[in-house]
Amino acid sequence: MCFLFVAVLLPAQLVNRFTIDLTKSKKNRLSIKCEVPAYQKDVLVYQIPKAVPGSYSIKNFGDYVDNFKAYDRIGKKLKVTYNKPDNTFTIENAQSLACIGYDVHDTWTDTHNPNYVFAPGGTYFEPGALFCLNTFALCGYFDGFEHTPSEIHITKESGLYCSTSADCKALSPTEDLIRVPDYDSLQDNPLVYMAPDTVSLAVNNCRFHIAVFSRNHKITSRQILASIRPILTKVFPSFFPKFPTNSYTFTFIFPGWQDENLMKSGGVGAMEHRNSSVYFYPETGNSAILNSFLTHVVVHEFLHVLTPLSLKSEQIFRFNYRNPEASQHLWLYEGGVEYLANQYLLRDSIFSENDYLESVRQKLLYSDRYKQISMTEFGRKIFENSDQGYYANVYSRGALVAFLLDVRINELTDGKMNLRELLFQLDEKYKGRFFQDDTLFDEIVSRTHPDIRSLIDKYIIGTEELPVKAYLHKIGYRLSITKPDSIYTFGRVSVEYDSRANRCVVRDAAPSYNAFNLDKGDLILAVNDTDLNEANYYQYLGLIGNPDSEKEVKVRFSRKGKTMEVQNPPIRIKVTQLNYIEPERDLTPDQQRLRKLVLGR
Ligand SMILES: [Zn+2]
Repeated sequence: MCFLFVAVLLPAQLVNRFTIDLTKSKKNRLSIKCEVPAYQKDVLVYQIPKAVPGSYSIKNFGDYVDNFKAYDRIGKKLKVTYNKPDNTFTIENAQSLACIGYDVHDTWTDTHNPNYVFAPGGTYFEPGALFCLNTFALCGYFDGFEHTPSEIHITKESGLYCSTSADCKALSPTEDLIRVPDYDSLQDNPLVYMAPDTVSLAVNNCRFHIAVFSRNHKITSRQILASIRPILTKVFPSFFPKFPTNSYTFTFIFPGWQDENLMKSGGVGAMEHRNSSVYFYPETGNSAILNSFLTHVVVHEFLHVLTPLSLKSEQIFRFNYRNPEASQHLWLYEGGVEYLANQYLLRDSIFSENDYLESVRQKLLYSDRYKQISMTEFGRKIFENSDQGYYANVYSRGALVAFLLDVRINELTDGKMNLRELLFQLDEKYKGRFFQDDTLFDEIVSRTHPDIRSLIDKYIIGTEELPVKAYLHKIGYRLSITKPDSIYTFGRVSVEYDSRANRCVVRDAAPSYNAFNLDKGDLILAVNDTDLNEANYYQYLGLIGNPDSEKEVKVRFSRKGKTMEVQNPPIRIKVTQLNYIEPERDLTPDQQRLRKLVLGR
């Protein structure tokens, strides 16, 4: 036996070292510095993303950067050219480049921008309270060196805690060090600094972390956990036999009435990442409202872990941050996930049958506005269209085509295959890789049934009217495009809860058109002798807005300081319901069987 000692000289590993001092943030700006490793290039191009995965429009984060400077090792400035359309900074004599520095303006307060960045994917800097750091809007990468690891050294106030799924180490109460292996991981791990209000729960092989920023402390992490516990413990495990991640972070940001300006620009919602998701919704002290949006959105975002965060095409796997290319399968990434989220909410009894049917009905009503759309073309052109109303159709028509696909696959394979199983199989095959955009349909057909081809050609690639009525009938539901009906009503009254003043204000009404003689500007004080407050108004105003019987309702309200009380029964009026869905009676065995396969009941 012979030992041979070989001295291996490893080159020092290249690492981008960013430093960000949150305590120095002023006027919605942050300064970013980056110590640049020796890339040994004459010219280096620093890229700030023009767009990022998971948010399907051009953002131009370069527009939020200014005072960009590059320095050599003795502190001399190097020549830099900014190319606005590309969001790039070209640095010359880069052989001697030692560091770059620049300021970043936040996106949340950029409220005059017609191309406003969706809040959960944007940035916000409020010293001492909240920093929403979507890292792709702060840090770029050097062209050709996307795979270089980065470190972000953060200085912060000791009272702030970082909610993130990134590898974040507290060096001291005022310093954190975040390490990421490459740019893809950097951009996929938002850092949200806030006062700590956190809780976690382990379910099977995953620990779920919840962190909450609630402007007026109306919502706590424990309350969120109580609300989504059935989802974490029932829906998620029934969808994922084994979780694809061991740790997942939910970061909830609830702006209050003081933040009216931030919310005015629209864009409440959530954004998904591989091991986390960020939620931006108005703060509410009403648990019914909180639960109603939480349940659905949390499932939708988490299911993205399967697609497009794992199962994805080349365009997303090798995301081009300068010239983003779109995949034609947005119908699957968003529509498929939306469909499966609702299906599993029903399967695990978080949704009632009525909730589920109402969600299908809403999708039909919405997709009627944008009927003649090829879903594949819609996906391919998504970066060319900034119309959010048009984009939102992916959650409607996209979800409806996923429904058709799932029903048909179940029918043709007698339940041996379904949409979820198909996605799991494809994910297994392409783990750590990507599929070719053009070949996905062939794979779907070969793994299911030859007849699936014509469904894809007609309704996903093609623009034929979706046979939702016929497919609902296959699983025992009747869809009536128009259905004469009668409902109870107290007339036209629209009431809004004003959380600043803690009162219910009538926003739209005319005294002769409602049973209580309510007028615009009246304050509703009590319904059926119960004083209204933030915790109960939603339920009690429902008695006025959606009466379900002929029972009288008593309303106490104040008009110009004078209190009045009126009690009346609703009237019954004839209406035409659109896209009305109801269960059929006397299902055939085939209908029963297919319904059980598709909806689990
Ligand atoms: Zn989504």
